[in-house]
Amino acid sequence: MEYPKLDINLSTIKNNVQTVVSLCENYGIYITGVTKVFSASKPIVQAFLDGGIRRIGDSRIENLKRAKEFDVEKWLIRVPPISQVKDVLLYSDVSLNSELSTIIKLNEEATKINKIHKVILMVDLGDLREGYLINNLFFDVVKKVQSLSNIQLYGVGTNLTCFSFIKSSNENLTVLDNLAKKLPLKNLVVSGGNSATIKLMLDGQIPPNINNMRLGESLLFGKERSTYTFLKGTRKDAFILSAEVVELKIKPSVPWGEVGPDSYGNIHKKLVDKGNITRAILAIGKQDCDIETMKPIDPNIEIVGASSDYLIVHIKSNDNNYKVGAIIQFELGYYSLMRVMQSEYVSKFYY
Ligand SMILES: *Cc1c(COP(=O)(O)O)cnc(C)c1O
Repeated sequence: MEYPKLDINLSTIKNNVQTVVSLCENYGIYITGVTKVFSASKPIVQAFLDGGIRRIGDSRIENLKRAKEFDVEKWLIRVPPISQVKDVLLYSDVSLNSELSTIIKLNEEATKINKIHKVILMVDLGDLREGYLINNLFFDVVKKVQSLSNIQLYGVGTNLTCFSFIKSSNENLTVLDNLAKKLPLKNLVVSGGNSATIKLMLDGQIPPNINNMRLGESLLFGKERSTYTFLKGTRKDAFILSAEVVELKIKPSVPWGEVGPDSYGNIHKKLVDKGNITRAILAIGKQDCDIETMKPIDPNIEIVGASSDYLIVHIKSNDNNYKVGAIIQFELGYYSLMRVMQSEYVSKFYY
């Protein structure tokens, strides 16, 4: 077996998806399963479908292309770059949009290949990432989009808690709800957010016209992101990373010599002196994972830090008798999983 290695438990993922999908359906909310965290790796996409997902979304058109054999509705959930509109039309059925010039370009190209492309107009409710501000200009855009021959206005949506970390609330989602009511269209998709909106849903605070959420993190880890709680009936250990110890020594807990700036230009604070400690160096680094979103499974191990190619841990008590060549395991969170999935140096094992 080659290390580092990522073990991916597909039945846990399927179970998490089933649990979250049926939970949301109780509230009249249908899920778009977001695949970007795992680069739309096919076995995991299949687990999403097995768990009841009928539409998938990804921010990268390259990932949707990878998933093209799956017969589900595909959403591009990042505003499309004009330079990629041809591929957007080929590999997605729906895209989230916030620029009329791009939608016009999509229409032009869609006309050439005789395809209808569905568009969800994004509105900005305070997070200051993508989306229109709601004013008269927005309604002009709606009219214009409706006049385009090969574009179907499919819905409206918003994204919160992603850039300025503005929480979704009954107040801001009511703005989206009211907007949906004003649009002269039936069966609109009203897409109210991501894994950080689940808490609001469980509290019964989601306005009635909101009928879609785009979920990634909560399907994979069962994690509700606004309060960082785990949903009943889900498991957070579908992804386990294993890395190998290449050095294990008792060394001081604080460095010696004069400290210079790190790779970001920052000078490190003085560390607390814990005397000599057992330090293990693992053959994995920042190229492959993100130490802030991963956690050793053994409670006696603590992450000290990492450089590009090494991860350093403090073994607080060596009950498991770790030595050179031993394997240390980690549970992963969002960014670490994203990086691990993309690292060609980490072997992936699906079971
Ligand atoms: C990533 C993303 C999501 C999914 O977010 P999670 O927190 O993983 O549920 C939803 N919508 C958009 C636009 C995204 O970029």
